Amino acid sequence: MTSMDAPLEPLLGAKTAKALETALGIGTVGDLLYHFPRRYAERGELTRIAGLETDEHATVLAQVDRVNRRTMRSRRGTILEVRITDGQRTLNCTFFNQAWRERELLPGRRGLFAGKVTSYRGALQLANPEYQLIGVPEAGGADGDEQAAAEEFAAALIPVYPAAQGLPSWSIARCVRQVLDVWEGSEDALPADLRRRHHLLGFEEAIRRIHRPADHRELAVARKRLKWDEALAVQLALVGRRHLVEERPAPPCPPVGDGLLAAFDERLPFTLTAGQREVGGAVAQDLAARHPMNRLIQGEVGSGKTVVALRAMLQAVDAGRQAALLAPTEVLAAQHARSLAELLGDLASEGELGAPEHATRLTLLTGSLPAAKRRQALLDAVSGAAGIVVGTHALIQDRVRFADLGLLVVDEQHRFGVEQRDALRSRDDSGTSPHLLVMTATPIPRTVAMTVYGDLEVSALRELPSGRSPISTSVVPVAEKPSWLDRAWQRVREEVAAGHQVYVVCPRIGEDGAAGTAGQGGRRGGDAEEDLDELAPPDEGGGARRPPVAVLDVAPRLAEGPLLGLRIGVLHGRLPAEEKDTAMRAFAAGELDVLVATTVVEVGVNVPNATVMVILDADRFGVSQLHQLRGRVGRGSAPGLCLLVSEAPSGTSTMQRLDAVASTTDGFELARLDLELRREGDILGVSQSGRRSTLRLLSLISDEDLIAEARGEAERLVGEDPHLTHHPGLARLVAAMVDDERAEYLQKT
Ligand code: ADP
Ligand code: MG
Repeated sequence: MTSMDAPLEPLLGAKTAKALETALGIGTVGDLLYHFPRRYAERGELTRIAGLETDEHATVLAQVDRVNRRTMRSRRGTILEVRITDGQRTLNCTFFNQAWRERELLPGRRGLFAGKVTSYRGALQLANPEYQLIGVPEAGGADGDEQAAAEEFAAALIPVYPAAQGLPSWSIARCVRQVLDVWEGSEDALPADLRRRHHLLGFEEAIRRIHRPADHRELAVARKRLKWDEALAVQLALVGRRHLVEERPAPPCPPVGDGLLAAFDERLPFTLTAGQREVGGAVAQDLAARHPMNRLIQGEVGSGKTVVALRAMLQAVDAGRQAALLAPTEVLAAQHARSLAELLGDLASEGELGAPEHATRLTLLTGSLPAAKRRQALLDAVSGAAGIVVGTHALIQDRVRFADLGLLVVDEQHRFGVEQRDALRSRDDSGTSPHLLVMTATPIPRTVAMTVYGDLEVSALRELPSGRSPISTSVVPVAEKPSWLDRAWQRVREEVAAGHQVYVVCPRIGEDGAAGTAGQGGRRGGDAEEDLDELAPPDEGGGARRPPVAVLDVAPRLAEGPLLGLRIGVLHGRLPAEEKDTAMRAFAAGELDVLVATTVVEVGVNVPNATVMVILDADRFGVSQLHQLRGRVGRGSAPGLCLLVSEAPSGTSTMQRLDAVASTTDGFELARLDLELRREGDILGVSQSGRRSTLRLLSLISDEDLIAEARGEAERLVGEDPHLTHHPGLARLVAAMVDDERAEYLQKT
């Protein structure tokens, strides 16, 4: 009768149903029952007013403190000023021409007050307040539903719902109660044995209790069950996806023993680390299979992922196929092409005079190549003349054709989502999928590995090749210690005098008129400089800040000021590819002392002689980004130094973040910290704009164990029943989570 899809109108009336739909997008019984309380007010415990944020629609449990009525001077009528309190701070509520409220808003009375929080001359206010007193029937209330009002507050835990103006939390609570009164539950998606094993409450009971818990224990039990639904849906989607991909045919690339890879290994100037050998072995085995490899290699910057990838590519070439390496930026692609060419030596000189046996051809293919070169590169790819093609991620969008692509390596692609990976894998219309190797330097906390990368096998390279130098990091708090900045530039000069090189990183390119952040090419463009709006942590204090410093302003200022006489170059994403390449080459060759750059140097750039990095307006970058950036120094024999320059006042959370980055070089620790600062939920990489979040309850930070257990169950379930034919409830759970559009997408892959 009352299925989850049933409309609300017959139950709640047209007016209320309409209000729910327009204000909160709640259209069905299911929508309403999944509109979980944001938190619970405790009877007898007032809401901390200090914790409110301005501009949010808040619902607080507070006590009337003082009431003052006065007549307006300019117009006829009265103003009723009501001050409410949590015992420490106060909030002002103002009512116009509602003097009668004075009779019920008596000092000492408690109730829920809702409205938008604003701040006026240092005092917090609730604009257009609505309220519901506790233990007092709604005097003269619109529907006079006294009994109902009393019931809403009978429990010890009062649910506080995400609400909207005109639709306060207590009205939503009443709607929920009305619906629950007639709801007969719906079939439980979780198999009974799974529920038993993990001590999970039935679905109906869990829904009832999360809305109306008797106590905290009951609430916790309900939440655990509903979190399981979420965790299992995510894991089933990811494991199922992996399963589907693994079932597709792939071009097998078995090792040959005496080919190009063997010749390469023979001339390798160093010995592989144990980690490189181990991961390399797993990759070699995957490549030989008739189903696609889907592996992620995660390793700190400088851990030597490139060699592992190159060896895999050579195995593909030995099998008579091609390999492609994709980098996020043109700078990186060019650099990769250079360093691969260097590592390969004349093994990459196929077609040239005197090329050794087994040699192959390496081709660079980027969007900004001159037309003729680009045509040649495309030709090399499609004819199979190029054994290895290096390009930017944008390459994928360009419908490049290969003669026989055996392996796709994607470097440093922590900006990719699950779905983008799928797009990569299925771009081939031959029916087979190339093997996929993803490399990232971003350390991945376990929960993220199980979710964002849940469709991949993860291997880690934890040890660094020997001979690496430590990086020390210091914060330069210019607000308090302006002289430290002078000292920093002094230090830069000393380093240059000692024959080393320095990066200066700025958040912005500049001279673009617009508030302009870096990377006008956007996400799809060749260069992936970050869009700061997305990266910068939320502003503290909300005050207007000056725009972040820009490469094009900083470089001349340094050249005329503190770094006068040094050879300074600039590098950013708006430069034409040739100029970028020239700047990078000049820096790598030691012809520049200082490179002033955007985050374009963030990933992969490798200049061992660079020892210092000064990051200006460091607080504008995210934690893991700072970690990535500083990985550019200390790559040679001299120790690295990273200076985080910021104007943020000490003691702010901004400063704490920078201090955290300075305090550890443990990427895993930092990744965890970063995760805590980020918004959660957007697991499958689809924006949540306007839509309810996939994960309402599950936390990537605190629900690690639960996610791991759900992963185990998902693997078992998919193993036994890949398409969930015998578990229609679970199939529905997955479909509901990935929503129609993406469910369709999943079936396609
Ligand atoms: P990342 O993992 O950051 O991509 P790279 O692959 O760029 O690291 O390696 C960094 C540097 O270390 C390169 O110059 C590479 O040649 C060198 N390298 C890689 N493996 C080893 C090793 N086993 N011993 C010594 N040097 C190595
Ligand atoms: Mg690298």
